[in-house]
Amino acid sequence: MEHFTYEKVTPPEGEKIVYKDGKLIVPENPIIPYFEGDGIGKDVVPAAIKVLTKAARLTGREITWFKIYAGEDALKLYGSYLPDDTLNAIRDFRVTLKGPLTTPVGGGFRSLNVTIRQILDLYANVRPIYYLKGVPSPIKHPEKVDMVIFRENTEDVYAGIEWQRGSDEALKVIKFLADELGVNIREDSGIGIKPISEFASKRLVRMAIKYAIENNRRSVTLVHKGNIMKYTEGAFRDWGYEVAREEFGDKTITETELWENYDGDAKGKVVIKDRIADNMFQQILTRTDEYDVLALPNLNGDYMSDAAAAMVGGLGIAPGSNIGDGIGVFEPIHGSAPKYAGQNKVNPTAEILTGALMFEYLGWKDASEMIKRAVEKTVQSGIVTYDIHRHIGGNLVGTREFAEEVIRNLNEV
Ligand code: NAP
Repeated sequence: MEHFTYEKVTPPEGEKIVYKDGKLIVPENPIIPYFEGDGIGKDVVPAAIKVLTKAARLTGREITWFKIYAGEDALKLYGSYLPDDTLNAIRDFRVTLKGPLTTPVGGGFRSLNVTIRQILDLYANVRPIYYLKGVPSPIKHPEKVDMVIFRENTEDVYAGIEWQRGSDEALKVIKFLADELGVNIREDSGIGIKPISEFASKRLVRMAIKYAIENNRRSVTLVHKGNIMKYTEGAFRDWGYEVAREEFGDKTITETELWENYDGDAKGKVVIKDRIADNMFQQILTRTDEYDVLALPNLNGDYMSDAAAAMVGGLGIAPGSNIGDGIGVFEPIHGSAPKYAGQNKVNPTAEILTGALMFEYLGWKDASEMIKRAVEKTVQSGIVTYDIHRHIGGNLVGTREFAEEVIRNLNEV
């Protein structure tokens, strides 16, 4: 087992979550690292932690929280935005709760969030999209939305392989393409490369199918732009079907088989289908209930998950996570919203539901459901933060007061 040492933080006494034979082994009293991050992270993370601690207790568990640092806090303490202590704790303890991090401006910084995902190989961005009664939505039937999005996190145009217009590298690539491959590109072009590999596509789709099987989901839809980008997006679709057939053949069927051989009744098997991305954007609005688990390459996944989050209440509500093999960092979709930092104003729901998602990952489904119902009850009773208040009015409260009401409701759901 790898041994981790820490420079400026000391892990608390308690039990570790361990990863063995492809499975997480979670004690009832685990150590869970967390960091508040920047901006409104300081408002929402402490609020969420109170709710999570209480929900864990009510279901017979006790979390030992381990405070670690990233972003501005880390810069003060360590002289670095992302110290080794923090990366080591995330690796060592397997499951971490994260607040948002501001991307430092200038100085050629890459996003700290992207850096964490890449260093720890958190290859799937997993976002559940479901509706909580009482939350304002721009669509007519938000109650039909119940999807889980698996977005590939390491490749595609996000891999950071790009060169500025006129740079030596860009000109070299343009020349190579013209001389060697007969492809002409305008000299004043910036160049970006879109790699999509069999390895990364398959492990992402594998995770999505496993999730669908374990959680009795009906279908996995491979979303792609393969009609245009055949060897990247189209290959993603083909590799997805291949994983389903070769590794989950007894538990999955394709949509074609469903109609040709099964008369429309999947008999408990997960249906694997695919949709072209542009069509999919309108389908999630018009035929919402036909979609369940979605697997997408990076860029389309990015667009799709924010659009889907907007359908059920927007950024203040939407939870998320970045998952690798036996390791998960749980974070809301929203950023650090610096203009609201420290004002006890923003909605802690996204961070609270991120915690509920973390509990689900730990196998604590009862605690996770309890939190969702308590948030729902709070909003339905008209107690809301400013973001919801501006749409439906109600009893306007701050971040802490909202979380306290959720805690009160935990006892009653
Ligand atoms: P943002 O922080 O998500 O904020 C955008 C807007 O979303 C806010 O102005 C607010 O809208 C609404 N919002 C966000 N969180 C909310 C909450 N908890 N409750 C209610 N409303 C909420 O996006 P940004 O302003 O583009 O980014 C700020 C910084 O965060 C940047 O440095 C960015 O790089 C970083 N970021 C980090 C992450 C991450 O850590 N994973 C993700 C995204 C962005 P209204 O003003 O309309 O009320």
